[in-house]
Amino acid sequence: MAQEYDVVVIGSGPGGYVAAIRAAQLGLTTACVEKWINAQSAPVLGGTCLNVGCIPSKALLESTHKFHEANTAFADHGIAVTQLAMDVSAMQQRKQAVVNKLTTGVSGLFEANGVALINGHGQLHEDCLVKVTAADGSITELKAGHVILAAGSVPVKIPPAPLQGDLIVDNVGALDMAAVPGRLGIIGAGVIGLEMASIWKRLGSEVVILEAMDKFLAVADQDIAREGLTLLKKQGLDIRLNTLVSATEVVDNQVKVSYKDSGGEVQQLTFDKLIVAVGRAPYTQGLLAADSGVQLDERGFVFVDNQCRTDAPNVFAIGDIVRGPMLAHKASEEGMMVADLIAGNQAETNYHCIPGVIYTHPEMAWVGRMEQDLKAEGVDYKVGKFPFAATGRAMAAHDTDGFVKLLADANTDRILGCHIIGAHASELIAQVVIAMEFGSSAEDLALTVFAHPSLSEAVHEAALAVGNHAIHMANRRARK
Ligand code: FAD
Ligand code: NAD
Repeated sequence: MAQEYDVVVIGSGPGGYVAAIRAAQLGLTTACVEKWINAQSAPVLGGTCLNVGCIPSKALLESTHKFHEANTAFADHGIAVTQLAMDVSAMQQRKQAVVNKLTTGVSGLFEANGVALINGHGQLHEDCLVKVTAADGSITELKAGHVILAAGSVPVKIPPAPLQGDLIVDNVGALDMAAVPGRLGIIGAGVIGLEMASIWKRLGSEVVILEAMDKFLAVADQDIAREGLTLLKKQGLDIRLNTLVSATEVVDNQVKVSYKDSGGEVQQLTFDKLIVAVGRAPYTQGLLAADSGVQLDERGFVFVDNQCRTDAPNVFAIGDIVRGPMLAHKASEEGMMVADLIAGNQAETNYHCIPGVIYTHPEMAWVGRMEQDLKAEGVDYKVGKFPFAATGRAMAAHDTDGFVKLLADANTDRILGCHIIGAHASELIAQVVIAMEFGSSAEDLALTVFAHPSLSEAVHEAALAVGNHAIHMANRRARK
């Protein structure tokens, strides 16, 4: 006899667990199916984000940034540090403690909200029937009013670089290194590649990144990408664009990588570790029975409409298994929207207002349209740009790299996008996300009072610069 629920969620990442909690808050009986177990066979909640993604990477970025600051910037403040050393094992333990706190926190939230956790592999059948196969092979049947698929994504594999033990690794191995590799190779100069490169470079690794594209960070506004490339190279990252990895070989515990450089010449490099970070793919293995009625698109993503409805009645899909950016906050937002829709409420996700951040130092963050796209589409726009070097707070912090760039419609002044490279860009971008959600103009931001001294003043000045009225800028002709 199948157990009955109003809502069954498959996957407990930031899409699934948030959807389950919201559904339960709305009075729906809810179960969440998760197959991840730890070495002790205990269920692990939180998905990629909490366990092997956003959170552990940010914990390591934070630790290594502090180390790097102590090494390079403290002296400037008059702080003398002697015998500075990094205990990698302690750093990894702290990272794991943060992960454990958050994942057990999700269990606590499930309990508090009455979400039933069902451990095992979930598979969707016709008419919202979910069959869950536990680790011991036993099968539980769940009959749901609605099903939310939130199975996430897995790293893309490339034939010339198959994973090998702790030598050729993906994001999981990259976050778990027990010692600082002397020479670290990374395939892919995307978000993961750059964040991992920053972590290990700060601890002393010699890092080479091999990127297939001839353009750096093609997904970002090219102004930010150019500045980012310059600053990251200045930090010592060896970023080689337009390269094609043809083979890897493990010899004497080292990884030999063969690649074609931008001139077509075959080159070889030897590394102590190699990270493969060439993108992620939706994970739908064993998720859909033949009669589920759910269709995939040509790239393997679950096909959904703007409100995450699949082709099967009463079945929704959210997060990394559907179109759109593979970001935790996008997954969570879709989770809340879908739970609301199931409960009969009005809900939508504003896909034009999803911020993206790369947590290098300085951070790169953006929301909305990119300048190159506005240009290509012939949109009439204005630009306001302001450097952090001209703000007192950045000077006081001795952290003056980067700028804020605001794009606004030339006719309506409505904000179209914002691109920030600088310290705390991940926090600063939220101001513009809110402004855009409220349909604000650049002048609205320009007329807002910002605390002094603060990095946010650069956002204010960029908004003033759209109208050519930035105060702390010598060249007042800052328009495009
Ligand atoms: P996931 O988090 O992947 O969760 C899916 C869950 O479903 C997993 O727990 C899986 O075990 C479970 N599952 C799958 N199939 C089944 C099944 N059939 N039955 C039962 N359970 C199943 N995003 C950001 O926004 N900010 C960041 O800073 C950031 N950093 C990242 C760093 C790294 C190294 C990586 C790899 C990713 C990072 N991301 C970041 C991306 C982010 O982790 C994902 O976008 C997010 O986790 C997607 O959430 P999700 O709920 O769709 O899927
Ligand atoms: P990505 O798409 O960001 O970058 C992959 C890079 O690898 C691209 O630059 C691509 O051109 C390159 N590439 C692809 N095939 C290659 C090949 N054969 N040789 C050399 N280069 C190759 O993917 P990722 O860095 O793996 O991250 C996966 C996803 O996880 C991203 O979509 C991102 O949204 C998410 N993520 C987000 C954050 C964050 O929000 N801060 C952090 C990490 C990951």
